[in-house]
Formats: sequence, C-alpha cells, structure tokens
Amino acid sequence: MKSFTYERVDTPQAATAAFAANTGARYIAGGTNLLDLMKLEIETPTHLIDISRLELNGMGETEDGGFRIGATVRNTDLASDMRVRKDYALLSRALVAGASGQLRNKATTAGNLLQRTRCPYFYDTNQPCNKRKPGSGCAAIGGYNRQLAIVGGSASCIATYPGDMAVALRALDASVETMTTDGKGRTIPLGQFYKPPGDTPHLDTVLAPGELITAVTLPKPVGGTHIYHKVRDRASYAFALVSVGAVIQKDGSGQVAFGGVAYTPWRVEAADAELPRGAKAVTAKAFADAEPREHNAYKLTLAQRTLGAVLAQAKG
Ligand code: SF4
Repeated sequence: MKSFTYERVDTPQAATAAFAANTGARYIAGGTNLLDLMKLEIETPTHLIDISRLELNGMGETEDGGFRIGATVRNTDLASDMRVRKDYALLSRALVAGASGQLRNKATTAGNLLQRTRCPYFYDTNQPCNKRKPGSGCAAIGGYNRQLAIVGGSASCIATYPGDMAVALRALDASVETMTTDGKGRTIPLGQFYKPPGDTPHLDTVLAPGELITAVTLPKPVGGTHIYHKVRDRASYAFALVSVGAVIQKDGSGQVAFGGVAYTPWRVEAADAELPRGAKAVTAKAFADAEPREHNAYKLTLAQRTLGAVLAQAKG
C-alpha cells in the first residue's frame, strides 16, 4: 500500500475544504471497498479525509412525505429501520442480500453507492483496463466475460455495476443530495448519477472532484409488493449474476430495475409499462439494446426468468 496522510473532519464544510486543500485526497467512511483497492494499489490516494463522524447519520420523513437517509447511515441500520421495512421493503431486502453482516455493519449509504466494479480484470493489475488505467485497453472485451454487462457498456468498458442497494433505489426513484467544494447543494436523480462509460470509464459518476454525498432521498411510499430477487453463484456473500428489484401493484403495474446485467443499475421506464403483460414483454423492452457476448448471453434468459419468478411471487 502507498503511504498517505489522514485527517478526521467534523462538518461537511470542513470535509470539502480539506479536499480542496489536498491534491490526491479521497473521502473515507466505512472503507469496505476503498481499503481493498488501496492494498492492491488500484486506488492510491495521498490523503484520506475521514467523514465517518459527520452528523449525516440520521434518517427521517421529509416534508413531502418521502424519506431522507443520511450519507453515513450504516447499511445494517438502514436495512433494519422499521420505517424502511414497512414503506420501502425493497430497499431493506436488497441491502440484506448484499455483502455480509460484518460488512453491512461498516458500510455506509454513500459508500455503497460509490463501490467500484468487480470486473476481475479491474483487480488484476497485470491486465489492461481502461477503468483502472485510462487508455490502456480492456481485457474483458474478447476475454472471459461471464460476469460482465450485456447492456449499457461501450467499446471501452463492459463492466457491471456490482451493488444491490442502488438497484432498489433506482426502482424506487431515489435521488442523491450532495454538497460541492464551493458549498453549493444539488440533487441528482439516481437515474442520472452514474455516468455511461463512453470513452471515460474511469469516471463512475457525475460527481465533481470533492463533491460530497450528504443524503439519499426517496419519494412518498408507493405501496405494492416489494421483492428483491438475486441470482448468484453461491447463496451468500457473492455479487449478482442477475438481480431484479420490483414493486408490483395489485393491478400488475409497477416499477422494476435490474442488477448484474448492465454498466449501471438498469431501469428502462418504458419497460415498466409492460409489467402487466409479463416478463417476456418487459425484458424485450428493457434489453432491446443488449449486446450479449460469448460467455454472458445467458444473462438475457436469466433476467427474463428471474423477473418471471418475481411476478409469480407477487401474484402469490
Ligand atoms: Fe476494465 Fe471495464 Fe474492461 Fe473490466 S470491462 S477490464 S473494468 S475496462
């Protein structure tokens, strides 16, 4: 691991000021992904700004009837909150499907959003990878791509977004609140938060340098049946090959997002309208632009069957 300096800050303003004052700075809270990447020297920050003690660890209803989750709320606390379990059960179920109990005890809401891909070539520093080293190439395209994206990628990168929480948040129409280094706040719908890869796959999100996530907000509860179904190679502590997060209403309408199949948490709003017609109709629309490759074409069939199982369960 490369050497680095460390400081702990008490306010969001102090965090962004510290970032602006230190070239090569990174924020750290739970550190469940960043520390692994630092040990492999994939990430080499020269200065860590510890934001874990910021007063951004509260949750509560918003004035418009929605729900606000502080950036440093731990995944375990979020998943077990009774208001979340009652009104946003999809989020709670997606969180519990992710990682392990120990990791969820440390991992934060903002850190979960910002976890980096688990493309095996990204972690193998002997291989070319545009996301790790811009312009070096992509070993996955033409390589072994069983875990990689069938949709949303580019000629530079076909990595999959690895998380579960953001799939649920995407289905629930969440937004991300941030504070920039000049003290301004902004709200970014989650559907616009992750950057398509284009020819800059090293940039995962639209966040500006030093922009601090302060909260995630959810709109008013929509009712319905909330289901998160994750298909993976082993029963726990594994990333999704395919996951489906859905809210299904009694009349068959609803909202659905997919994980494990795309460069970002994948939702095509026009596909939601097909939910009453069944899984085949939904996936035909959601994956109309899919470009399956030699080892990952199975994900198209698996996505349709997983959604079929979710719809059958919702009919119950
Ligand atoms: Fe790197 Fe993306 Fe290619 Fe994987 S798919 S090797 S992360 S550029």
